[in-house]
Amino acid sequence: MRTEGTRVIVLGLREFHQFHAAGRQFLYLVPSAAVFELDLVAEAVIRVLSEAPRSEDAVLEALADRFPPPAVRSVISELRDVRAIGHQQQAELKEPKFLPMVPFPLSTMVLNVTNQCNLACTYCYEYGEDKIVDTENGKQSKFMSEATARQSVEFLLKESGQIAHMTFFGGETLLNFPVLKSTVAYARQRAAEVGKTVDFSLTTNATLLQPEIIDFLADNEIGVTISMDGPRELQNKFRVFHNGAGSYDIVAPKIKALLQRHRSRPIGARVTLTSDTIDVTRIYRHLTEELGFWEVGFAPVTTSPDQKYAISDRGFDRMLGQFNELAHEFQEQVAVNKHHGFSNIKDTLEEIHKGVSKAYPCGAGLGLMGVSTDGDVAVCHRFAGSDHHKLGTVKDGIDRTAQQEFLEQHHINDKTDCHTCWARPICAGGCYHEAHVRYGTTRRPNLHYCEWIRGWTDTCLQVYGELAVRNPDFLARFDRDEAKAEAVL
Ligand code: SF4
Ligand code: SF4
Repeated sequence: MRTEGTRVIVLGLREFHQFHAAGRQFLYLVPSAAVFELDLVAEAVIRVLSEAPRSEDAVLEALADRFPPPAVRSVISELRDVRAIGHQQQAELKEPKFLPMVPFPLSTMVLNVTNQCNLACTYCYEYGEDKIVDTENGKQSKFMSEATARQSVEFLLKESGQIAHMTFFGGETLLNFPVLKSTVAYARQRAAEVGKTVDFSLTTNATLLQPEIIDFLADNEIGVTISMDGPRELQNKFRVFHNGAGSYDIVAPKIKALLQRHRSRPIGARVTLTSDTIDVTRIYRHLTEELGFWEVGFAPVTTSPDQKYAISDRGFDRMLGQFNELAHEFQEQVAVNKHHGFSNIKDTLEEIHKGVSKAYPCGAGLGLMGVSTDGDVAVCHRFAGSDHHKLGTVKDGIDRTAQQEFLEQHHINDKTDCHTCWARPICAGGCYHEAHVRYGTTRRPNLHYCEWIRGWTDTCLQVYGELAVRNPDFLARFDRDEAKAEAVL
């Protein structure tokens, strides 16, 4: 009998999420964010302990008719090592609060080259009722000047590691195409002078994709994401011009021309889902099969719950059902080495594979920052121009005290509601902008969508387990991509 002094050690379950995939059982171990496959003995030990905590001898006895005691003992020791089970009387060690060391290299700078838009999408966070910054009547310039864009380039090159990502954003980004174009040339030249590499991308609503712009994007290998909501009837519900006219017939031919000409990088669509447009599978088919996008990512609209297009709990359930359908399709395609363009799942699979355990939901305020048209640096592009979320300026640099304060206040350890949630290594409380719109503060976790997050993370884990068994090489690509990136650094 194993004892500690005179006390018998009672074993109990620790923090994990159990899931089933490819006919096997797995554990997602929360403190380490690792995936652990259970063999028959381990599965039996977990089952016995899930009925009630027991001493090691009691576990051996309960399983004596099925497994030899040395095998059970060795599995118990292994499960204790990975912290799937543990000493019942000892509380699980609380993870210490480690703050990232600053200065932290800036990997992505999102440049809001304009806050103007030629569309008037009903749900837009920049123009709708949920806006943070008044871009129509406020003090921020409507367009970024060439001088501010150049200062932003210098700022990025100073703050970044060897490779820097620059993303142009709006408003409608292409309304300021002249500045975008000259900034790409300037950044290339300056990056070469300081021995760094800059990678460019942009987001656009596609309405202004003229042949010369398409040529420029293709020739300069600029990554493109198109904001688009799907087939005509769905696109035209919210993505309308200021006169209320739908944009589908304007954008569809331009997108086809772009996809035809720009072949050097995969081009993706980014779909905003609302209560009126939750038709994930149909949207996905249209965008990939009829328009030809390489990949499609979906995001639920960010809005207060009072808006009629806000997604309700039932809507989230419906969305999860459709995400699951596409995830299954993705799994079956990838298992036989075929491409599938459902991008939401790829990002999460990569995080699971790398054992990511987040202290923060995203890179905002750390490796990612947004720059407003006037050159104010904010936590991310969605807060660009907001004085409350300002972390400095491209001219004067990052205000390290403000950054430290932000990191101190938004750490997962301070989100008490998340402490018992098994999905926290991946979610970490969710998007700050969503939280700000819902609760008026970036510090609160997004508790309105926990069921959805846990359901989706469970699906991703199942797909991960399936691929780990059926096509491990697909997952190993995530390591190779990382190794490639590190080799350049
Ligand atoms: S916001 Fe919800 S789902 Fe996300 S970590 Fe917190 S409790 Fe879990
Ligand atoms: S805070 Fe939200 S919008 Fe901003 S980078 Fe993070 S996830 Fe994206």
